[in-house]
Amino acid sequence: MTESIATFRGEPDVAEVDVLWITAGLGCDGDSVAITGATQPSLEELVLGALPGVPKLNLHHPLLAYATGEEFLEPFRRAAEGKSERPLLLVVEGSIPDENNKAEGCWAGFGTDPDTKQPIPTCDWIDRIAPHAWAVVAVGTCATYGGIHAIEGNPTGAMGLPDYLGWNWRAKSGLPVVCVPGCPAQPDNMTETLLYLLRQAAGQAPSIPLDHALRPRWLFDQTVHEGCDRGGYYEQGDFAAQTGSRKCIVKLGCWGPVVMCNVAKRGWMNGIGGCPNVGGVCIGCTMPGFPDKFMPFLQEPPGAKMSSAAVLMYGRTVRALRQFTRSSLEKEPLRPGARAAASNQPERDEDRGDA
Ligand code: SF4
Ligand code: SF4
Repeated sequence: MTESIATFRGEPDVAEVDVLWITAGLGCDGDSVAITGATQPSLEELVLGALPGVPKLNLHHPLLAYATGEEFLEPFRRAAEGKSERPLLLVVEGSIPDENNKAEGCWAGFGTDPDTKQPIPTCDWIDRIAPHAWAVVAVGTCATYGGIHAIEGNPTGAMGLPDYLGWNWRAKSGLPVVCVPGCPAQPDNMTETLLYLLRQAAGQAPSIPLDHALRPRWLFDQTVHEGCDRGGYYEQGDFAAQTGSRKCIVKLGCWGPVVMCNVAKRGWMNGIGGCPNVGGVCIGCTMPGFPDKFMPFLQEPPGAKMSSAAVLMYGRTVRALRQFTRSSLEKEPLRPGARAAASNQPERDEDRGDA
């Protein structure tokens, strides 16, 4: 451990890294909106090169760029020809349609081909730029695993980037597609992943650890349930029967016990919110099986019926014992010099019941 830290100390090998961000997959641009709320680190800190030892991030993003039209497209065209001057991160947002499943037209594209005057399909941009990229990052569930558009029966044949490029595909760095899922992806999960890759590109960090679904391991190695504010209610078998309750919402359709996501711990933005913490059932949006395997939404997950029934029996007993203990602990010990006997202490407030 000490050795690896020493190895990666010092000035970065590269001062700047270009990021080409394509939002022209099938998506809602929600990840682009979300990343503007990142705080650890913020997008501004990365773009300004404000973090010591971290290369400056040159962001080319259609929603956040000053440049428009051809001026905006120019770095994309250069990258497609393999003429980027700096290490290149290609970030893709939105799912990738199957452009081979119809006779004409394209499902998604951006920019115009100067020869044919036709839109350039998003797939063509990816085909041309990805081979020159130092790393490719898919942000949001659409770009990672297909998301909502990949639901069974969708005519676009939408898929995630690992399905499109191949799960064994490798960028120049040797990395597969790096996936940051979420609908939208949690803002700090995106900037933290970019920060890690910037440091790796600059020779400051070892290869980013990814799990079997190509997610940064340290961000997705715990279930929602393990970080949920309502976990104590679950453990005591205290389940909400309707919305608006502060209790565990597993019976209202929460998939938190089996979903890998840090939003309950990290919040949606700057530590605030997080789906089950604020009463929204987890519908598994960071998971490759989303959405088909999590439907119908807002119904108790099949597996939860058995586990919550088991917890209910155990939890009720534990809760009863704890209330007995608690009513004793809520009273001061008998102290000989006290003016009033402990038995005169008012009873504690009644427990608040379920809403
Ligand atoms: S609300 Fe969901 S994540 Fe939270 S404790 Fe209940 S089942 Fe687990
Ligand atoms: S808690 Fe569940 S629904 Fe909310 S972001 Fe995480 S995976 Fe998605």
